[in-house]
Amino acid sequence: MRLSNRCYAVTGLGYAPPWSVNAGFVAGDHVTLVVDTGGNTLAAQTICGYASAVRPGNQLRVINTEKHFDHIGGNSFFLERGIDVWGHAGIARTAGEFQEEIAEFNAAIPNAARRERGEAAAFFHQTRLANPNRQIDEDTHFDLGGCTAEILLTPGHTPTNLSVWVPDDGVLLTGDCLIREYLPNLDAGTPADWQVWLESLARIEALKPAIVVAGHGPVARGDDVPRVFETVRRVLRESIERGGSPTASRA
Ligand SMILES: [Zn+2]
Repeated sequence: MRLSNRCYAVTGLGYAPPWSVNAGFVAGDHVTLVVDTGGNTLAAQTICGYASAVRPGNQLRVINTEKHFDHIGGNSFFLERGIDVWGHAGIARTAGEFQEEIAEFNAAIPNAARRERGEAAAFFHQTRLANPNRQIDEDTHFDLGGCTAEILLTPGHTPTNLSVWVPDDGVLLTGDCLIREYLPNLDAGTPADWQVWLESLARIEALKPAIVVAGHGPVARGDDVPRVFETVRRVLRESIERGGSPTASRA
């Protein structure tokens, strides 16, 4: 969907229930920056199709907002086409981790016959593990031609999280630093990480974005924006107090 002059969201890409994951892109005059690649090559094809259709003559560039596979699964599709994929220097996933991800996805299929057939293979059709080929370890910005995208390190959910801020349009793409409607996933971290996450939230909230594309859930605009920040902040504060993730103990 079109969000603003330069910014688009590609929402609701498939993943293991209950998650659906978002991506987006920012179309400058010369470069279109794709933010996240979905969980698989099928998602990457969808994202690439929209991004290419909006400004067909543009060079494409990709950035990953974090290391989890639902945000980097489509990387290989872009890299195989000579498109650079940028991401935090800490994104270094292994083939073994990717196999575990596929196994976990397969185990979440409710129907036994489909599990036994290994139908996760359909979801991961032609999907190969690919880490970013261009690394970022500090804040930076991309000149997309008539439009700048600021890349801000926003660790907490993982140490590799970053957000993309398009000041001219007031649009912020946060990856899983913010998610909407779903409970945020704190399972990868500790209370110390969640404290870092709170600091990242404060940093991007101070930008006063008009529109937020969170890593998961509906796009937020206007009055919904501060509510999304407040919801995630409340979960983080409660979890720090309790010393545990709200989703960790229950299967
Ligand atoms: Zn995610």
